[in-house]
Amino acid sequence: MSSSPIASGPLVRRNSRRVVISHGGREIVVGGGAPVMVQSMTNTDTADAIGTAIQIKDLARAGSEVVRLTVNTPEAAAAVPAIREQLDRMGVDVPLVGDFHYNGHTLLTEYPECAQALSKYRINPGNVGKGAKRDTQFAQMIEVACKYDKPVRIGVNWGSLDQALLARIMDENADRAEPWSAQAVMYEALVTSAIENAQRAEELGMAGDKIILSCKVSGVQDLIAVYRELARRCDYPLHLGLTEAGMGSKGIVASTAALSVLLQEGIGDTIRISLTPEPGGDRTKEVVVGQEILQTMGLRKFTPMVIACPGCGRTTSTVFQDLADKIQTFLREQMPVWKGKYPGVEAMNVAVMGCIVNGPGESKHANIGISLPGTGESPAAPVFIDGEKKMTLRGEHIAEEFQKVVLDYVESHYGQGHPA
Ligand code: SF4
Repeated sequence: MSSSPIASGPLVRRNSRRVVISHGGREIVVGGGAPVMVQSMTNTDTADAIGTAIQIKDLARAGSEVVRLTVNTPEAAAAVPAIREQLDRMGVDVPLVGDFHYNGHTLLTEYPECAQALSKYRINPGNVGKGAKRDTQFAQMIEVACKYDKPVRIGVNWGSLDQALLARIMDENADRAEPWSAQAVMYEALVTSAIENAQRAEELGMAGDKIILSCKVSGVQDLIAVYRELARRCDYPLHLGLTEAGMGSKGIVASTAALSVLLQEGIGDTIRISLTPEPGGDRTKEVVVGQEILQTMGLRKFTPMVIACPGCGRTTSTVFQDLADKIQTFLREQMPVWKGKYPGVEAMNVAVMGCIVNGPGESKHANIGISLPGTGESPAAPVFIDGEKKMTLRGEHIAEEFQKVVLDYVESHYGQGHPA
C-alpha cells in the first residue's frame, strides 16, 4: 500500500532541559519532552490569605498545574506560608510560584518562610534594580533560590525591559554598517535579557536545570518572532504567553493565534493565557482556554470535548444550543472527580448536532452523538454510541435523558474493571 502524501504530524518538540517544580510529593515537569503544562495567576490581594487560597483552589480544580501569585509587599510575603498551609489543609497540593518585582531580594531574604513555601520564583530582570544595585539584588534572589533549591523563571516583559541593556543594544546597533530596525533591536534586547540573565544565574551557582525563560510581548507577530529566536539560541524550557492579551474573545483569539503557531513548531513547555476577566468574571477561564488550545491542537487531553454544529436556518429552535452548553458544562464539572475514577475519559468526544444534514454522520464519528430534529423533521433525536444508532429520544426531557446516556457510557467504558 503506498502512503498518502496527505498526513498530519507528528509534531516535533524542541529539545529543552527538564525542570521540576515540586511541592510535597507532587512534581510538575517542565521541558525535556514533558507534556506542555498549563498555569495561571491569581488576581486577589495576596495579603488576603483566605481569599487567595480560595482562588488558588478554584484555579487548581479547573486544572491549573501551577499557580502564580504576586508577592509585592511585606504583608503579601507574610501571607504566603499561611496560604500554603491553608491549601495543604484543603488537600490542594498545587505548587505556588511567587511573582517578584522591585523588592523581591528583600522579601525573599526577610521572609524565609515565604521563600520556602513557594515552589518557584519568577524574576523580572527589568525590575530587579538599577545601576550597581541591579547585580547585587539579582544575585541575592538567586542565592535564596539556590539555598532552598527552588527553580526560577527569568521572565522578561517588554513593558519592563531592562533599560540599561536596551541602551547597550541600541549603541551596538548604531555602530552597525547597516543598522537594524527599531523592532529588530527590541526583539534582540528581549532575547538577550533573558539569556544573559540565565547565564548570570548559572555563574552564580544555579543549576542549568532550574531555569525557565519567558519573553512576553503583547503583539502576536512580535511574540512569534521573539520566541523563535529564543528557542534557537538556548535550550532552557520556555514559558509561553501573550502578555496583556485583553478581554473576551480578543484576548482568547490573540493568545490562541500566537501560541498555536509556536506550539505547532514545537516551541513552548508551559503556557499561561493572560486574559483580563470581565467585571466579576471567573478567573478560571484562563485555565480553560489554555487547556482548550492544547486539546484542540491534539497536544494534550484534559476533558471530554463536545462537537457541536453552529446551527443554521434548518433549525429554528435553540434546543440544540442549550443541550450543547449543558453537556459541555456538565462534562467539565465532572472532571475533577472523573479524572481519578474514570481513566481515559478525557479522550471522549460527544457530538450535539442540530439536524439531519450532518447530524448522523458527525454523531457516528464521536463516542456518543445526538442528532436533534431540525425544522420540519420528525420530533425525534437519534442517539449514536460508538458509531451505531442505539436509541431515539423524544419529548421534553431529551437533555436529562442524554446526560444519563453519557453517564452510563462513561461508567461502562472507563469505570474500574473495564479493559480500556
Ligand atoms: S447540522 Fe444541520 S443545523 Fe447544524 S449547521 Fe449543519 S445543516 Fe445546520
